[in-house]
Amino acid sequence: MRARQRRLMKRRVLVLNSSFEVLTYISWERAITHVISGVARVIDSDENTLLHTAGGLTFPYPSCIIMKNYVKVNWQPDRMDEDIAAKSAILTRDGFMCMYCGEHGSTIDHIVPQSQGGANTWENLVCACQSCNSLKADKSLADFTRDTGLSLIREPFKPLKASRRDRAQEEIYRRLASGDIKIVDDFEDEDDNT
Ligand SMILES: [Zn+2]
Repeated sequence: MRARQRRLMKRRVLVLNSSFEVLTYISWERAITHVISGVARVIDSDENTLLHTAGGLTFPYPSCIIMKNYVKVNWQPDRMDEDIAAKSAILTRDGFMCMYCGEHGSTIDHIVPQSQGGANTWENLVCACQSCNSLKADKSLADFTRDTGLSLIREPFKPLKASRRDRAQEEIYRRLASGDIKIVDDFEDEDDNT
């Protein structure tokens, strides 16, 4: 059971853009959070592996999720090997858009502040405008959201290496062509309920 649990922790969930473009891999916890919050839905799952969330919900293991809205991404292939993200790479990834308010941004914000141990990683850095950056300062994301009503426009992610992305993309197109995974067309119905 322990070994199985460890394997489960290591398995990653493939994230597709709404266009079926391969975006990245994330943890299943994050994937489930995206699905529950309504920004993504599961299009492929492992029905033999059930996950239990802290909130008491049970899900089949999601192996692939698709974003509801198109995420504009600027790839920077030569930077993608690095765990520590360069400022220019973060700004490029986020398209110089403040990830809190959506306005033009040219500064970098640590989601978990450096004073609280936040690292210079792809997942902890986002583009921010001057105003959001100074409002957030040393606050946690939760405190910033409580004070301003703003939260992250989207989860920051570490871009995949081009070769890995290409392989994953080929597999997705093959499975789409064979009807193994299907185009999703019922997002609008879900919108009505939220
Ligand atoms: Zn802003």
